[in-house]
Amino acid sequence: MSDPVPPRAEIVVDLAAVRHNVRILKDLVNVDGPVALMVVVKADGYGHGMAEVAAAARDAGADWLGVATIEEALALRAAGDSGPLLCWLSAPGDDFAAAVAAGIEVTAYSLAELEEIAAVGAARVQLKVDTGLSRGGAPRAEWSDLFARASLLERQGRITVTGIWSHLAASDEPEHPANDAQEAAFRDALALAAEAGLDPDVAHLANSAAAVLRPSSHFDMVRCGIAAYGLDPAPGVSPLLGLRPAMTVRARLLLSKEVRAGDGVSYGHTWHAERDTSVGVVPVGYAEGVPRAAGNTAAVWVGDSRRPVRGRVCMDQLVIELHGELPPPGTEVVLFGPGDAGEPTAQEWADAVGTISYEIVTRIGGRFVRRHVDGDEPGGTAP
Ligand SMILES: *Cc1c(COP(=O)(O)O)cnc(C)c1O
Repeated sequence: MSDPVPPRAEIVVDLAAVRHNVRILKDLVNVDGPVALMVVVKADGYGHGMAEVAAAARDAGADWLGVATIEEALALRAAGDSGPLLCWLSAPGDDFAAAVAAGIEVTAYSLAELEEIAAVGAARVQLKVDTGLSRGGAPRAEWSDLFARASLLERQGRITVTGIWSHLAASDEPEHPANDAQEAAFRDALALAAEAGLDPDVAHLANSAAAVLRPSSHFDMVRCGIAAYGLDPAPGVSPLLGLRPAMTVRARLLLSKEVRAGDGVSYGHTWHAERDTSVGVVPVGYAEGVPRAAGNTAAVWVGDSRRPVRGRVCMDQLVIELHGELPPPGTEVVLFGPGDAGEPTAQEWADAVGTISYEIVTRIGGRFVRRHVDGDEPGGTAP
């Protein structure tokens, strides 16, 4: 029997890598006493597959899962997850009743949101305070009112306040003054909440970068997204942790051909061959989330070497230089992966196009086929 034809373009996610990363993070934050680990699986698990990553994270000891929206949380329940689960991004009119019925903890940013949640009855609510990000959460001027109202609602048996939390603005820059200021503000908020009679189970502030770089920010729990996927939360700053990127993105070469010195390549001819050379067409483009800005900046891996992206990335395809070689159609082209063989990483793609690895992995998708493997399974990414 012949081997099945591999897909045109695929995203391979190694769940063994996710488990490995989750165990590393859990050990890291539990050095000085018990700290719970929430693994953040919003946005389809940063492009890695929410349900699959969630199950792998739970297997490896994630105490909590976190998502942005109620819809994401309900999808996790539908996929069979039943553990502690928090969501934190609601719009007025969202289905808080469905969340509460499914045992999902919800977050209130404001008095209005708290009232909407309390109206459902029996909600487990966490309160988000803005300590300086100036994004979601109650501003300092509203903390007292929010805590007083939450405390009253709790005494009336209408809600249970299970957590108080906030989010950092510059945790990937450990020297940034916002870190100290936000941590101090968070301690103020916790003190005010205690004065109001609240005694929540968990106070939490840290994302991946703070989990790794700032032990004083750990409180009762850390919320790790990017590091669980094996990507560096603070490039150039993080210590070596042994995290393993879980995602490999690859495609099959459509064709290769010779071009002559001076020939222009792809739309607008933003690149001309400097000498006689060869190019290959890779059938993925910005419709798949390959950044258009990768034109003339990023590289891929073919055979045993890096090949530069030449000219503009198109909607469905991109062109690479093959330096005179003419590999046959179907040859594997790795856009990025863990980097073990020398292939670029998501971080290198991010650097090439001026963004962060989060955006690279989260946006990749479109017509790519995604599949999950487990370590040394055939097609897995384990060395
Ligand atoms: C996305 C998110 C996180 C995870 O951040 P990472 O930097 O990926 O670890 C944590 N907390 C909140 C509120 C988030 O929205």
